[in-house]
Amino acid sequence: MHKQVSNVDAHEVTRREFLIGAGAAVAAVGATLILPRGAAAAPIALPPLPWADGALAPYVSAHTIGFHYGKHHKGYVDNLNKLIAGTDLADLPLEKIMTTTAGSADKQTIFNNAAQVWNHTFYWESLKPKGGGAPPKDLGAKIDQAFGGYDTFKKAFIDASLTQFGSGWAWLAVKDGALRIVKTPNAENPLTQGMKPLLTIDVWEHAYYLDYQNKRGDYAAALLDHLVNWEFAAANLAA
Ligand code: MN
Repeated sequence: MHKQVSNVDAHEVTRREFLIGAGAAVAAVGATLILPRGAAAAPIALPPLPWADGALAPYVSAHTIGFHYGKHHKGYVDNLNKLIAGTDLADLPLEKIMTTTAGSADKQTIFNNAAQVWNHTFYWESLKPKGGGAPPKDLGAKIDQAFGGYDTFKKAFIDASLTQFGSGWAWLAVKDGALRIVKTPNAENPLTQGMKPLLTIDVWEHAYYLDYQNKRGDYAAALLDHLVNWEFAAANLAA
């Protein structure tokens, strides 16, 4: 459920949060402003998907999206709101909750839920119908420079997806000005390790098992070939 807040402080919305939210965020309903995702609000809202449930089919089915968004993503939002209610974290933006609790042993559960909310929102934005294939020119040149060509990049990204042992995420990220392929376990993400994420693929089994069963590599390849939102990655790179 969205909580409607009227006293929005625009300065609390960082450029990154704005970009992430740009796909579906600021919607005026009558005179009421619904906050962009990531902006300070309690409770944290489940952001709307940037496309219809069935829009990624046949590569990711509406059935998968229904469970993944409606149960898993929503579950992390609900858990997070229960965990932060009445605490100092309750009024912080999502990204701040995540960075504040990262690496803190007694706040691990809060971090896990906050990061999973953030990661899933980033994952939905990383995908779009009729996406994938060769990246746009500028980003493509950077990929060529970093990995020696798109095909090499693609192979390495699929390999990262496959070799992340257990649950986690594969990312295209920037570290020290250079593009990197990064894999993270569970809820971890490159942002808390000083990197700038550009794009992600969820490699938890719930992301692909209904459609691909054990074939995680086929799922990753299908996303790269048909669904990856390169414009989102390029916008994050430029931000
Ligand atoms: Mn997931």
